[in-house]
Amino acid sequence: MPPRSSPGTCLLCKTSIGRIAMLRHSMECLKKSAWPESDGPSFVIRVEGYHTKMFWLLVLARHDATLSDLDRLLRDVWVECCGHLSAFKIYGRRFSSYSGEDDFNEDEESGLSVPLDEVIGPDSTFTYEYDFGSTTILRLSVVGLSAVSPKSQPLILIARNNRLEIPCYFCKEKGEYLVTDWPDDPYQIVICRDCTKKKTEELESESVIVFPNSPRAGVCGYMEEPNSALRWYPAGWQLEDMYPVESEEMLNEIMDNDEDDGYTLLDDDA
Ligand SMILES: [Zn+2]
Ligand SMILES: [Zn+2]
Ligand SMILES: [Zn+2]
Repeated sequence: MPPRSSPGTCLLCKTSIGRIAMLRHSMECLKKSAWPESDGPSFVIRVEGYHTKMFWLLVLARHDATLSDLDRLLRDVWVECCGHLSAFKIYGRRFSSYSGEDDFNEDEESGLSVPLDEVIGPDSTFTYEYDFGSTTILRLSVVGLSAVSPKSQPLILIARNNRLEIPCYFCKEKGEYLVTDWPDDPYQIVICRDCTKKKTEELESESVIVFPNSPRAGVCGYMEEPNSALRWYPAGWQLEDMYPVESEEMLNEIMDNDEDDGYTLLDDDA
């Protein structure tokens, strides 16, 4: 069984600590950040999977950031697969991404262009749903207020869970990839690099992906988009620091290997 919660990394100073201890750490780190003070306190928002706390984020949001900004961040970092609809539910009110032209709106439903400080306060908790078919539900809570705000954008990620360590289904070594439609029960498995090499025949390349650091892993056509996520990181982060680029390159090599005639970069001859 994977752990129910997982440690993470402070994106300001790159320290790795537990989920609960992270909040106090992050508040201290924000104080030392020399980021600008805004005309009102910013929200520190914890986001986590509704059914699992293995995946979590801490977000710093300017008080006047909109639900639309927050929706963009959640899509870029965690959930976007094929442009599904999304909605926040806050104190019984729904705020959704439907366009204003849709006849879909009911009385109690609003769009997303609402500033956060008009709908949430210091202890608010609320939910976010992405895709009303294979829905990913997230729980959000305001866990702190900070005098500082992100430098040049309405919201920024300040902490995030580390990549999960899930053992390979076959050999129990470090799992690296997710097979999203394994032709057996269970229909999704985590697999290591060596086992992927041994089983190229049984794996179709489109059904093997780098295990996503997201609660939407394995749902619909979800694949992590690290370049989109990186936009929400503080300055100084590179793709290689937050995404296993080498795992993806290796996967491409392994899965293309079938079609190579003649040369191979791999030393196994399965
Ligand atoms: Zn820190
Ligand atoms: Zn989708
Ligand atoms: Zn293995």
